[in-house]
Amino acid sequence: MKCSRCKKLACVTLPSHHSGFCAECYPLFFTRQVETAIRREKMFTHEERILVALSGGKDSLSLMLELAAQGYDVTGLHIDLGIPGSSPSARVKVEAFCSSHGLKLEVLEMEKEGLPIPDIKAYVNRPVCSVCGRIKRHHFNRIAMEGGYDALATGHNLDDEVARLFANTLRWDTAYLSDQGPTLPAREGFVRKVKPLFRLSEFETANYAFLKGIEIHSAACPYASGASFTSHKELWGELEHRSPGQKFQFYQGFLKKGKPAFAAREAEVGEPLAPCVECASPTSAGTCSVCRIKETVRANKAAALAAEG
Ligand code: SF4
Ligand code: ZN
Repeated sequence: MKCSRCKKLACVTLPSHHSGFCAECYPLFFTRQVETAIRREKMFTHEERILVALSGGKDSLSLMLELAAQGYDVTGLHIDLGIPGSSPSARVKVEAFCSSHGLKLEVLEMEKEGLPIPDIKAYVNRPVCSVCGRIKRHHFNRIAMEGGYDALATGHNLDDEVARLFANTLRWDTAYLSDQGPTLPAREGFVRKVKPLFRLSEFETANYAFLKGIEIHSAACPYASGASFTSHKELWGELEHRSPGQKFQFYQGFLKKGKPAFAAREAEVGEPLAPCVECASPTSAGTCSVCRIKETVRANKAAALAAEG
């Protein structure tokens, strides 16, 4: 296939776009998709300050590089989860990436916050990934609010969004369905959240990272459990193979027709929020779930140490 832009030999073919690109033109395709996402979903402007969540994977680092190249005021935030065999290498990759590109970076250590993920695994009787995700979202929002950022950007791509939407639809989880989308406006206690890569698939982002020579963190987390999202992605990969463009149509259809209905319903039944008595993050329960988890870790760890000694 020839490059849709310059007619040289294409190195990436994109059936869902009926096009292909050579190595020089592909990043332009990527840039246009990100520009369109930001503009159509009113994500942010060049006058605003954006905090970018950086895990060290291909999506978050590609997002950071692209937003910086488009002239946005971006600062990276990496959360060091304290997971042996995974977190040290993720942190090294993020720090090296930001330093080599001259990008601002903040690092938050869960060890110092009293919530390293190995302690969650050892002392909290709940699925570690769900607690880990909650802790990350909590701290991304807290740092963005405390730092006065206008928006928090994450590297979720189209495959992530479709897998999540599919899982929520299978459960008809209306609260989560009302809260999914590429732009979630700011509200009391919550920063605006945006996903500028939502028009791009995992494959498309991986190509960008590769062609830009980004060194990514790829060591698997020892606690990764092969969650249902993985099988949903495989299922959608098969559908997309048979009918290119289906993933994007499904997601766009939800944004246009499904989300407004769920959002209206949740606005009626949603619980009122107030600041957590411990950390001031918004919660409907007096003390927020992350502060309660922290207390569980502290108490169970102390009990385990007392039993040992
Ligand atoms: Fe956290 Fe689970 Fe991801 Fe590991 S795999 S970083 S525990 S969410
Ligand atoms: Zn709290």
